[in-house]
Amino acid sequence: MGLIEQNIQTVPEIRLDEKGIAHRIRIFEDPRSPPMIFFSKRALARYKSRFDVLNQGIAKKSAESFCSMICLLLGRELLMTNRFVGAAYIAHAFTKFRAARSPDADIVENMLQAVRESNQAAIINLFVPLAHEIGHLGRSQALAPAEIHSDTFFDTYRISHEEIRYLIGDLDYASCQEDQNSPLFLPLLKEEAISDWFAVTAVFALVARTSREFQLDQTFGNLVMFPLVAALEEICIKEWRSTKFLQEVLLATQCRFSLLIDSIRANARYLFPRNHSDIDEAISAVENNYQEALGLLWQASIQLRALSREIVHFSDAEVSRYISERTHKDQWLPSTTT
Ligand SMILES: [Zn+2]
Repeated sequence: MGLIEQNIQTVPEIRLDEKGIAHRIRIFEDPRSPPMIFFSKRALARYKSRFDVLNQGIAKKSAESFCSMICLLLGRELLMTNRFVGAAYIAHAFTKFRAARSPDADIVENMLQAVRESNQAAIINLFVPLAHEIGHLGRSQALAPAEIHSDTFFDTYRISHEEIRYLIGDLDYASCQEDQNSPLFLPLLKEEAISDWFAVTAVFALVARTSREFQLDQTFGNLVMFPLVAALEEICIKEWRSTKFLQEVLLATQCRFSLLIDSIRANARYLFPRNHSDIDEAISAVENNYQEALGLLWQASIQLRALSREIVHFSDAEVSRYISERTHKDQWLPSTTT
């Protein structure tokens, strides 16, 4: 596990990209100098807001309120791409709760402040997405442990399918392994799994270096949120997804999770060789919480689909009626015609 320390001698230079919009990071590689990494505030803030929605959904243990929060994210996404129907999703969310919004710059500043105070959860939430992107670089991929590259990867599909069959039902995952458009496409899933491995290894090294005390439960819990946020993005914050696609995303997430747990266990044992039983205990607690979160995500995505079946094809007039029927009068700007 000292792999990264041994192999990446050049430490990248990390800078904030004030103008960046979509990307979490942009990497400039020049063989003569260390790689330059730019990360965008807006993309980090987006990741954090999805993370918070997922966290709140898990805390509430209610697929219905989770679905409403997702409607707010989806609605905003649709409106930002000029799809008026997004307003109907937002009106639906408003029937359940009122939204509060922080500017991107404030979200990122809060993240950075918590990192400065050596808050472990904050360090993980900031650096996992960045380290994951760095994990996509060719030289990071090349560092992956041999078992990820070997045929045992096929067992991961089979075992993961067994594990979540109770939730998603049967899925012909073998044909998806060769389908370029599927999240289960073998080269794609493998690359994501390696990037996760890279992120876990890098962040463990970072936390071990910056914190005096290692909070196992919290660290593990935050690490496994990353693939869940990716799943949330894929199945809920897109306009329309077939049930089969939802199944594929969940299975891909489960595969990533099982490899992530292996990486977490290996890294933790490498750093804390005497704490094996504490590590195993913390891992089984995280596994239980994760299964609960995955179940909730699946149920929320099914509810969202049922709702979308109704409103995604609304005409503009139907959207207007839907909104005016559902929003409270205090949600409109005060009238200026008096
Ligand atoms: Zn990735």
